[in-house]
Amino acid sequence: MSVSRRSVLTAAGAGAVVLGGAGFGAYKVATREEPEPPAPPILDKHDHILWRNWSGIQYSYPQLRLSPTSEDQLAGMLKSAPAPIRAVGAGHSFMPLVPTDGTLLTLDQISGLVSVDGDGLATLKAGMRLDALGPALQARGRAMNNLPDINVQSFAGAISTATHGTGKRLRALHGNVTALRLVTAKGDILDCSATSNPEVFNAARVSLGSLGIITQVTTKTVPAKRVHRRVWLDTFEDALAKAEDNWNKHRNFEFYAIPFTGLCANIANDETDRPAEPRGPETDTDFLDALKYLRNLFGWSTPLRKFVAENLLSAYGSKPEDAIDDGWKLLSTPRPTRFNEMEFHLPAENQFAALREVLATIEAKRPDVFFPIELRRIATDDAWLSPFQGGEHGSLAVHAYYKDDYEFLFALIQPILLRHGGRPHWGKLNALTAADFARLYPRWKDFHDLRMSLDPEERMLNPYLKKILAS
Ligand SMILES: Cc1cc2nc3c(=O)[nH]c(=O)nc-3n(C[C@H](O)[C@H](O)[C@H](O)COP(=O)(O)OP(=O)(O)OC[C@H]3O[C@@H](n4cnc5c(N)ncnc54)[C@H](O)[C@@H]3O)c2cc1C
Repeated sequence: MSVSRRSVLTAAGAGAVVLGGAGFGAYKVATREEPEPPAPPILDKHDHILWRNWSGIQYSYPQLRLSPTSEDQLAGMLKSAPAPIRAVGAGHSFMPLVPTDGTLLTLDQISGLVSVDGDGLATLKAGMRLDALGPALQARGRAMNNLPDINVQSFAGAISTATHGTGKRLRALHGNVTALRLVTAKGDILDCSATSNPEVFNAARVSLGSLGIITQVTTKTVPAKRVHRRVWLDTFEDALAKAEDNWNKHRNFEFYAIPFTGLCANIANDETDRPAEPRGPETDTDFLDALKYLRNLFGWSTPLRKFVAENLLSAYGSKPEDAIDDGWKLLSTPRPTRFNEMEFHLPAENQFAALREVLATIEAKRPDVFFPIELRRIATDDAWLSPFQGGEHGSLAVHAYYKDDYEFLFALIQPILLRHGGRPHWGKLNALTAADFARLYPRWKDFHDLRMSLDPEERMLNPYLKKILAS
């Protein structure tokens, strides 16, 4: 089916209005829209200021906030700052990795591109945000060939949770890192790579801020080329039948299965020499609003909701959405609609079976869900806590609108993804224990021993990290 996403969202929104006025007008649209969750107080009883993550579910009141301007200053601070000492990037993790009532530390002032060498290896200060890295690399004729959905993360924060994009032959961000500098809780400054402190390098590439503070990173890059982005719809079965081929064919490919519609949205990005045709205004918000509206109107009847969605969406055929631009402008896009998210990384061969089960479960039991389910591919790497070790992985991500309940992710979705051999994204919702991680990660004990040697007093660990990492 050839349907542009923009026409779909217009159709869905308009159609829902029409149907609402043509007989369903008495149905209370707001029935399923939950109120805004209450915000925590801005100050705690000690007058410490609130810190909160992007989705709003994690928060704390750090007694000290630090923003060092150099590695030496940072090393001095780490020796005496009150524990737990937690680094924060953009606060875009859903798990309680950052909250601390001790020290919250940002590297916003240790940021910027340092150099790009003749082999295209880029060295940058690790507080640098991905949206600043794109243009800085472009100015040197270089680019990242893979980026996450959004680009506000700090580089250190992104690699610390194994943040990834999509592409059968493309690794997660940490998989392209060839060297990094770590400042430990004792104030030691360690340069690490495959040849210098190799054990620390293997552990620190994905380390949840538990080994020390990463201040500098060297990463592989590719020559800067424009990228052709295409978005198109398929039926669910067609999308699944063609997905493997699409992953083989396109540099970056992903698809979203849209619950209660029988449809999938495909997104492909490929290098091109064609002139730029920039993307129009952001449309994801309208698209999600239309899906939410369909839920609000027809959430009480799954067959009716599917019937309306399938007929509305397939009635509006047109060309696929197309754009050509610099890769960093197209690979990541803004996500103004807030949500909570669970994502697991599964052996690639299990991805579709898991998707079928997850979709069937949502459509049978959770009519409140309207966000699309995201499917990506990631090439393997060997960092000790990389969820992608052991072969190509397929990720599956389920989102819950920020006003809606997300407990079903733990009760209904996590068991399916675990049964299919998944490892959770370190920054996204999961309820796994130290014993689960020990089973999923062959180098778990080595990571533990190394962490103990770098920070024997466990000053870098907050309560959540103590639960999963401490002795
Ligand atoms: C809207 C949205 C879209 C997303 N899209 C994707 C996606 O496409 N792909 C994907 O894989 N993930 C995605 N994520 C998850 C996100 O990329 C990760 O959670 C990432 O870790 C967030 O980066 P951050 O800079 O916000 O780090 P934070 O969440 O602030 O911190 C993450 C971890 O890094 C540690 N850390 C931060 N700085 C340092 C440092 N200098 N040294 C050592 N440790 C440090 C923190 O202590 C913490 O443990 C998304 C999240 C959101 C909210």
